[in-house]
Amino acid sequence: MAYFPTIGLEIHAELKTKSKMFCSCANNPDEKKANINICPICTAQPGTLPVINKEAVRKVIKTGLALNCRISEHSKFDRKNYFYPDLPKAYQISQYYLPFCQNGYLKINNRKIRIREIHLEEDTGKLIHPQGADYSLVDFNRAGIPLMELVTEPDIHSAKEAKKFAEELRLIFRYLDVSDANMEKGQMRCEVNISLNKDPKKLGVKVEIKNLNSFRAVEKGIDYEIERQTKMLESRKKIIQETRGWNNVKEITFSQREKEEAHDYRYFPEPDLPMIKILTR
Ligand code: ADP
Ligand code: ZN
Ligand code: MG
Repeated sequence: MAYFPTIGLEIHAELKTKSKMFCSCANNPDEKKANINICPICTAQPGTLPVINKEAVRKVIKTGLALNCRISEHSKFDRKNYFYPDLPKAYQISQYYLPFCQNGYLKINNRKIRIREIHLEEDTGKLIHPQGADYSLVDFNRAGIPLMELVTEPDIHSAKEAKKFAEELRLIFRYLDVSDANMEKGQMRCEVNISLNKDPKKLGVKVEIKNLNSFRAVEKGIDYEIERQTKMLESRKKIIQETRGWNNVKEITFSQREKEEAHDYRYFPEPDLPMIKILTR
């Protein structure tokens, strides 16, 4: 192959806890009726304050330990600011500066894939677009469900390897009983970052693929991008840093938006939550 692919994964998993991340609403991913598991906190009513779910923190640390991570002695939450109708506060409580787990790895085919970090955040609500309607509906049952995000270093070099990594992670999540990690149900979601370069030691311009909702889609999406980017580079076209979606029917990726940068989100420390001191052992 003329170009060498490099891949990094960002994997989200909904944690299996009784209640949501910052309120006492039930965390029930199987609830069919919209807006049943909601309260003033997870719908962002004025004057409400979040309280940290200890079990969710415990599950992230447990995952970090299983994946050879260093567990931060001190950790905290940060606000990631953006507007979208499924995010009532207009910011997501996440972790940017001091994630719970850092510098881990998972061995795939006896090769270490480094894990940059695992952090804890909250899930968003869900938008529903009724067929033919000129409006959308919003269901906040999922808003505020604890969501763990794992970020790898760009250490993966093929679609097969990426699929294997994600499958292995699912097994670990289930074994640890931290998440049911069902991809079809959206309990586990994979975002793929991929770039191509002639020099295997260098990184190219990366493209991110979203809404890959099965292991098969992860593999197919990467193979599609390798082919698309190879063709672009061979005809001397520039790859632009962008976010692309996956069309599961046509099995192609399509441009969604040019990639936003961290500073666009105006990350700052969450003032409504205390710092956390973690004592392992
Ligand atoms: P961003 O700031 O755009 O989110 P990051 O540096 O935080 O980018 O990386 C996000 C993910 O993309 C990580 O999994 C990382 O390993 C991967 N990544 C970063 N740069 C590249 C690249 N050039 N090619 C492939 N993957 C990359
Ligand atoms: Zn609630
Ligand atoms: Mg990043």
